[in-house]
Amino acid sequence: MFQYEYCKVQIVETAQILVKKGYLMATGGNLSMRIPSESALAITPSNYDYMKMTANDICVLDFKLNLLEGELEPSVESAFHAGIYQARRDVNAIIHTHQVYTSALALMKTPIPALFDEQVRYLGRSVEIIPYSPSGTDFLKKTIVKHIKNHNNAFIMQNHGALCFGESMLRAIYNVEILEKCSLAYLLTLCAEREVSKIPMPIREIAFAKLRKDQKKIEKGETSTGGE
Ligand code: 13P
Ligand code: ZN
Repeated sequence: MFQYEYCKVQIVETAQILVKKGYLMATGGNLSMRIPSESALAITPSNYDYMKMTANDICVLDFKLNLLEGELEPSVESAFHAGIYQARRDVNAIIHTHQVYTSALALMKTPIPALFDEQVRYLGRSVEIIPYSPSGTDFLKKTIVKHIKNHNNAFIMQNHGALCFGESMLRAIYNVEILEKCSLAYLLTLCAEREVSKIPMPIREIAFAKLRKDQKKIEKGETSTGGE
C-alpha cells in the first residue's frame, strides 16, 4: 500500500539522518508516523541497528497495537506512540531520542522555560518534564498521554531522554534540533551560575498563538502552513 511505503521510507531516512547528526545512538530511541486516514501508525522495530534498517523492517500497527505489516518486533514504546496519535490529532510524526544535552536536563528534572522566540513558536510555552516510569510500560504510556495535552511539541522524559512531535517528519526533525540547542544553551547558562533571561511574556504568547493556529488547521484537516 502506497501510504505505508511512504511512511516507512521517511522513517528509515530520518533515523539514519539522526544517527549521522548524533541524536540517535546505538539502538536507543524510536520513530513513528501516523498512517493518513487510518487508525494506524508505522514505527521502528525494537532494538535494531538504524544504519542496517530498510523500509521492509518498519512495522505497521493499528492503535490497539495489532501488527498489520512487518516481520520484526515493534518498538517497546509502541503503546505511547499510539496513545499520542489518539490524544493529539495535530501530531503526524513522533521522534523519541536519548539525545545527550536534553538527557542531562532529564537527570536534573529541569524544565526549559521560554528562552527563545523560535523555541516557543515550534516547541510550545516551555519544555516540561514528564515524570519517570520504566521504558515500555503502560505506566509510561499513561503518564505521557496525561502530560501532552498542553499542546507542546517537545518534552523531557525524566531519567530517560527526549520526546518531540511534528505535523510532518521534517518538522519533528527540526524540533529535535531546536530542543537540543535550547538544552545546551540552558545547561551552559546554568553552569555559569548567571541569571537566566527569558523572553517577555507578551512575545511568548504571540509565538505560542502561532503554533496553536497551525495546530488547529491540522486538526481540521487543512494542510500545513509551512510554519511561517
Ligand atoms: P526500542 O528499541 O524497543 O524502540 O526501545 C528503545 C527505547 O528508546 C526505549 O525507550
Ligand atoms: Zn528510550
